Amino acid sequence: RQKRESKVRVRCLFNFDSKDDPHIPCKDAGLDFVKGDILHVVSQDDIYWWQARREGDRTMRAGLIPSRALQERRVLMARTAENDNEENEDYDREEIPTYEEVAKLYPRQGFHRPIVLIGPPGVGRNELKRRLIDLDPSKYKTTIPYTSRAQRPGEVHGKEYFFVSRDKMEEDIAAGKFLEFGEYKGNLYGTASENVRSIVNAGLHCVLNPHSQALKMLRTAEFKPYIIYVKPPPFEVLKYSRHKAFAKSTFDESNSRAFNDDEFNEILKSAERIEFMYGHWFDDTIINDDLAKAFDKLVKIVKKVEAEALWVPSPWVQ
Ligand code: 5GP
Repeated sequence: RQKRESKVRVRCLFNFDSKDDPHIPCKDAGLDFVKGDILHVVSQDDIYWWQARREGDRTMRAGLIPSRALQERRVLMARTAENDNEENEDYDREEIPTYEEVAKLYPRQGFHRPIVLIGPPGVGRNELKRRLIDLDPSKYKTTIPYTSRAQRPGEVHGKEYFFVSRDKMEEDIAAGKFLEFGEYKGNLYGTASENVRSIVNAGLHCVLNPHSQALKMLRTAEFKPYIIYVKPPPFEVLKYSRHKAFAKSTFDESNSRAFNDDEFNEILKSAERIEFMYGHWFDDTIINDDLAKAFDKLVKIVKKVEAEALWVPSPWVQ
């Protein structure tokens, strides 16, 4: 009699290399994976080692992967070991990323998942967003941020920003109305959840490039965002591509200027931190070593999101 198969599918939120693992009970029996891989968990009988196989690969035998409990324990032990490390602030996550149960979300009429571009300032997210909206402004929309700074001559309320008082903005921040906010030169700036909601509810494609801190509030069953990481290429490529683009003035026209080495290093450092903090939530990655190619890839991804059934956290599908 055939045993009923487990239906558990998970997205792996960490990397596992069985060759590096001193505790695996059975050498060569591990199933290696990287962050983002989808696995079919076939047995959770053992408390430390689950058995899983790669999703879609029915012929392959199951392999061993660390159970959720084992991985949590390992991460906690590693954190304790480096307790005095100054980078401890990086660990301000509520949950330890292990596995996330997933299910397939089928495209449905009248609903478009927001496309969220995450990445360090200067990587080119603004330009990618602008080009996508330019492709079809009746279809792709972005939100207008709020700010407490004074309106400049020529600026229109509701076009560049919604201009509000600092008191009003602080009140709304405290009430949890902002997906993200930040202070820049003494003024508050932020994106309101309600603005995303009205674009989504109008059946349009919302395109966002928020601060990565917004992911915590965006990544919900309500919004079901598709999160794309815009990654800078390695230093030399980054420098070369940006200088070339600057010379041709095709790169981020709104902000076209030469970067220096320190700024390139800053972009790369910031990218590393974003990957460390939020990498387990990325649905896709675009390396922006060439703006035209990066944009092509973005368009392909957006078409895929519109047309295909994709894995999402299982509570989003209920
Ligand atoms: P400006 O005052 O020149 O229009 O914008 C200055 C800066 O405000 C921008 O470069 C950006 O860093 C920040 N900013 C603009 N909109 C937003 C937003 O929606 N959220 C956050 N956190 N910062 C913003």
